[in-house]
Amino acid sequence: MSDELILVVEDEEDIQELLEYTLVNAGYRVDVTERGEEALTLVDEHPPSLMVLDLMLPGLDGLEVCRRLKGSDLTRELPVIVLTAKGEEEDVIAGFEAGADDYITKPFSPKVLAARVAAVLRRSPASRPDAEGALNYGEIRIHPGRHEVTVDGRLANLTHTEFRILHFLASRPGWVFSRTQIVRGIHGEDYPVTGRSVDVQVASLRKKLGEASRHITTVRGVGYKLGE
Ligand code: CA
Repeated sequence: MSDELILVVEDEEDIQELLEYTLVNAGYRVDVTERGEEALTLVDEHPPSLMVLDLMLPGLDGLEVCRRLKGSDLTRELPVIVLTAKGEEEDVIAGFEAGADDYITKPFSPKVLAARVAAVLRRSPASRPDAEGALNYGEIRIHPGRHEVTVDGRLANLTHTEFRILHFLASRPGWVFSRTQIVRGIHGEDYPVTGRSVDVQVASLRKKLGEASRHITTVRGVGYKLGE
């Protein structure tokens, strides 16, 4: 089972049901709406991991929904798969121009749909910022805009480099990063970060996170990850 939430935006009832059935069967949680306006509200309230978006919607159409999502810093990273009518090549092109990550032509095979969704999720970062743009992991809240980290609401006084390491690990929880990947990922600006200094930084970071430091796991011989 996955805890990924998929938002389905489709007004045709039978297709909506087929999408929901297929995605629930594939192990996803699914939210459904038939209106573009409501889709944008739902993205704010319950940020999904991916959106399956029909282009032909009453009111705000799919292309406009996609453009708005991809035009905002908060939602740009949300992967969008657009549904297009058979033989409408222009729709596919318009969808990609609006920023869509992939497309599926109706009528679709449920197996192909599930495979496409899984493929798009795999290539997108696992962590999605919340409505304020913050990443949350347990009691740790990382706010990239403010360069701030709070633990249970209390500000953790991290250095620039400690912040970047934590933010980098949080970009893909559960993913093991080598010291080299971490160095490359944070391209230490204030001073050259080396593999060994990553260990020093992580030790200091753990101290400042207190109890919450249990979320940072050392993977012997490899590196670090966020998560047990
Ligand atoms: Ca439709």
